[in-house]
Amino acid sequence: MVLNARLDHRNPLVFDTHELGRRPGALQRLTRTIDAPRDLGVAGVIGVPEGAPLELELRLESVLEGVLVTGTARAKAEGECVRCLEPLEQQLEADFQEMFSYPDADDRGRVKAEPADDAEEDEDRLFVEDGLIDLEPVLRDAVVLALPMQPVCQEDCQGLCSECGVRLSDDPDHHHDAVDIRWAALQGLAGSLEDGEKDEMSGAEPGVDEKQEK
Ligand SMILES: [Zn+2]
Ligand SMILES: [Zn+2]
Repeated sequence: MVLNARLDHRNPLVFDTHELGRRPGALQRLTRTIDAPRDLGVAGVIGVPEGAPLELELRLESVLEGVLVTGTARAKAEGECVRCLEPLEQQLEADFQEMFSYPDADDRGRVKAEPADDAEEDEDRLFVEDGLIDLEPVLRDAVVLALPMQPVCQEDCQGLCSECGVRLSDDPDHHHDAVDIRWAALQGLAGSLEDGEKDEMSGAEPGVDEKQEK
């Protein structure tokens, strides 16, 4: 975390907690539709295109040591089917909850620990800075978790024909010549297994023969 970089209240993922106030129990609900930031999603697989509308529904709750943010992000994600490579769209809904601590939280929240003890944990902690909170890291993590690592255009997508590359879901009866390609694949596999076995046998042959003779 870069501590000296001040949060910019004009950033659409930065939220102001002044209105919420610091009285524990205070609640604020808000929705905001923003332009999706760059590289939101699983790189190279599926994600929300930059600038696409992203709806945020948030609940900010003031607690003793900071602000607890609970929310949902909704957007349309775009990617490519891992089986047939067709472009696909998917409705994304990502839930998240995150605690933003007051930097001076030491009353009855967390006791300020010695830096040495807490250094590692501090890196993952998020803070309210000048009354502002930055949701971007939270949103990024939530979106990645909510998206499939192996998106498919449809659950039973058959992928592409290994012979000619045609999309099998478009043409399920499609085949090549008289030989079913699945048989061809199996025969190919059987052939390579036989070759392997033969090689092993010929290597082991003299020893085996000796043993059998004695
Ligand atoms: Zn597909
Ligand atoms: Zn084919």
